Amino acid sequence: MNRRLIDAHIHLDMYKEEEQNVILRELEEIGVDALIAVPNDLASSHRQLELARLDSRIKPAIGYHPEQTLPSEDELQAILYLITENNRQLTAIGEVGLPYYLRQEQPDLEVAPYLEVLEQFIRKAAQTKLPVVLHAVYNDAESVCDLLETYSIPAAHFHWFKGNDRILERILANGYVISVTPDIVYKQKIQHIAKQTPLSQLLVETDGPWPFEGPFSEKMTHPSMLHQSIQMISQIKRIDVEEVYQRVYETTRSFYQL
Ligand SMILES: [Zn+2]
Repeated sequence: MNRRLIDAHIHLDMYKEEEQNVILRELEEIGVDALIAVPNDLASSHRQLELARLDSRIKPAIGYHPEQTLPSEDELQAILYLITENNRQLTAIGEVGLPYYLRQEQPDLEVAPYLEVLEQFIRKAAQTKLPVVLHAVYNDAESVCDLLETYSIPAAHFHWFKGNDRILERILANGYVISVTPDIVYKQKIQHIAKQTPLSQLLVETDGPWPFEGPFSEKMTHPSMLHQSIQMISQIKRIDVEEVYQRVYETTRSFYQL
């Protein structure tokens, strides 16, 4: 029995320090071998590198989260430089992508400058051969796929994928991976997405500290929740739970070259 897990997307630096310590202390007992730790901005990118130096189970990524005001040119260049400088210690470039929720709040927000920033990160991924972690909600995944295809990016991870079947088909045909969060336990749409996705392209993540509902309501988001995600994937796909554990683990390891 090999019930090992990897949290494929967590904002570890956004937890309070005591919470980070609790999570790290409990990882072994809950069977979680590694955390793909993603940042929001330059300061947070530096923190991923520091965290990874303290604990080798933390696998750092560097990027700029799209659901906020654009980075200044200086900040963007500093992040790109940080990627080049730490290329070998890095697991991925991300979280990068397009602002979806921000556009709901600010309908006049111009997307073109965000696409330009994203293109710089994708170009950097092409140079460094690092995988890209993408925030591309609903139809935004289409324009992100256009860019990935332009630069022939082989390794892209669409985290918390919520798009329709047509976009999912394109993502899967390109050999990219997607991940589901614990909301798969109580959201039919996410269950449907997982059903269409082969285990060779499916990862599990918490996106912690983002809070969840249903059975996770009022609980601190913790990588232990991934066990419930795996149970649900096993039920939806009617595949033995041990096999789901093993294959999702292998998919994550091979995608992130861990
Ligand atoms: Zn995230």
